Amino acid sequence: MGKIIAIDGPAGSGKGTVARLLAEKCHFTYIDTGLMYRAIGYLTLQNGIDISDKEAILDLLKNTKMEFTNEGFLLNGKIAGQELRTEEVSAASAIISKDPDLRALMGSIERNIGATSDIVMEGRDITTAVFPDAPYKFYLDASLEERAKRRFKENQEKNIETTYEEVYNNIASRDYIDMHKEVGALKRTDDQIYIDSTDLTIDEVVEKMFKIIEGE
Ligand code: C5P
Repeated sequence: MGKIIAIDGPAGSGKGTVARLLAEKCHFTYIDTGLMYRAIGYLTLQNGIDISDKEAILDLLKNTKMEFTNEGFLLNGKIAGQELRTEEVSAASAIISKDPDLRALMGSIERNIGATSDIVMEGRDITTAVFPDAPYKFYLDASLEERAKRRFKENQEKNIETTYEEVYNNIASRDYIDMHKEVGALKRTDDQIYIDSTDLTIDEVVEKMFKIIEGE
């Protein structure tokens, strides 16, 4: 079993960037589990599968190869990037991830990754369901307005066409879905280290976490 640093938090909380930088600092592998759900959401749309057809979507996951490599995230052997970040795929990934069977399989794929390498893994249920015994468990938060602002700016930088309202509504609706899932819901627990990043820079958050891990 590798060493595990687990981070959960809502969409736009900055956990992706923070986890990536923290992984670099610790020389661990960064695993973005949101990308895995996004990949299945994306393929569901691409293949014209009905978003409520749980069996077909579970089959899709069983037949999909996902790898985190130095070159990037490989989906069925090909680098996948911005196509997984559209608002349409975001919404689809939140819906398909409600299925407990899909989550169970995704969880076992995620645990296999942690079995062989030191990782910083981020998502919604990593601290609670996937690695509840991880030595470091963080919940990274920020206000809804701040998260929508950040995601909107990110989209603009990446030339993804959206309005602020669209991003705000999408995040609000994903928050609702993510916090009310029957299994694997995003939730706060007493044993997570809670960090509110609303008024902190990315570097400040990373430094804060690194100090905790280093035991300073
Ligand atoms: O983290 P990101 O926003 O990229 O995740 C996309 C969607 O995938 C989330 O809204 C959530 O519904 C789902 N997800 C999940 N469990 C995880 C990671 C992501 O349900 N561990």
